Amino acid sequence: MNISETLLAATKRLQASSSSARIDTEILLCHVLDCNSAHLAAWPEKKLSPGQAQQFDQLISRRETGTPVAYLTGKREFWSLELEVTPATLIPRPETETLIEFVLEQFKQQKKCHVVDLGTGSGAIALAIAREHPDWEITATDISQDALTVAQKNAAKHQINNVEFKISHWFNALKGESFDIIISNPPYVAEGDPHLLNGDVRFEPAISLISGKQGMDDVEIITAEAGRYLKNNGWLILEHGYDQKKQVQDCFEASDFKTIVQKTDLPGQSRMTAGCRTSTEYTTKTS
Ligand code: GLN
Repeated sequence: MNISETLLAATKRLQASSSSARIDTEILLCHVLDCNSAHLAAWPEKKLSPGQAQQFDQLISRRETGTPVAYLTGKREFWSLELEVTPATLIPRPETETLIEFVLEQFKQQKKCHVVDLGTGSGAIALAIAREHPDWEITATDISQDALTVAQKNAAKHQINNVEFKISHWFNALKGESFDIIISNPPYVAEGDPHLLNGDVRFEPAISLISGKQGMDDVEIITAEAGRYLKNNGWLILEHGYDQKKQVQDCFEASDFKTIVQKTDLPGQSRMTAGCRTSTEYTTKTS
């Protein structure tokens, strides 16, 4: 079969299982042919070799059973960086770019900045910030060595040299350090949330997605502990679920964050809370 026939047949096959059948098909065919989508449009009559046809057929079969496109191609673009992703990491999502935009705007005057990205996964947040600010000093942590290996490969691939990688469960390996920015896309989905039964999340690491009964366990730990690791006037910036705006704000207030900023993502869903601590003194409210 040629390119055009292959695309048509595969799109039809994926229609029942994917809401983005045509795009999935194009991305997977580009992956097999090692070309871009303009090439597919320019050469509709070009025949696939038997090897290419077989490889493509296998990818379409795996896509039919739900495997995310990013795990099939092993890559996903984030902030114009092509990142390697594996099933050890969450697939970077466009809504997380909301956090990067906030950092760039809020800290645009800052020549030096010490940043930590907690639970970096493929490295998306740390590497996007590092690319924009080569003079900043960035630490990226993860509890999973497999994820850190992917993040390190991504740093090397893009020749980003200002990120240090550390195995850590939240702040465990950061004792005594202090940062201007603590940033994270922690797990925030509630156990049993029905949306875990559909789409890419079925194949992503549960440890990166699920956080207790309300999806708030890790947000609570991070907001409670962050004060100890922030410099005076340091910021904590967290991604969270569209319906967690009020709960996350309460957590920030309970941990003495005075200035609190909340942002929506591009589709208009509440997605990020940032807070500034004006005192280095750590206080816990027990009420
Ligand atoms: N944004 C992801 C989702 O919608 C969740 C990511 C996370 O828990 N950090 O499933």
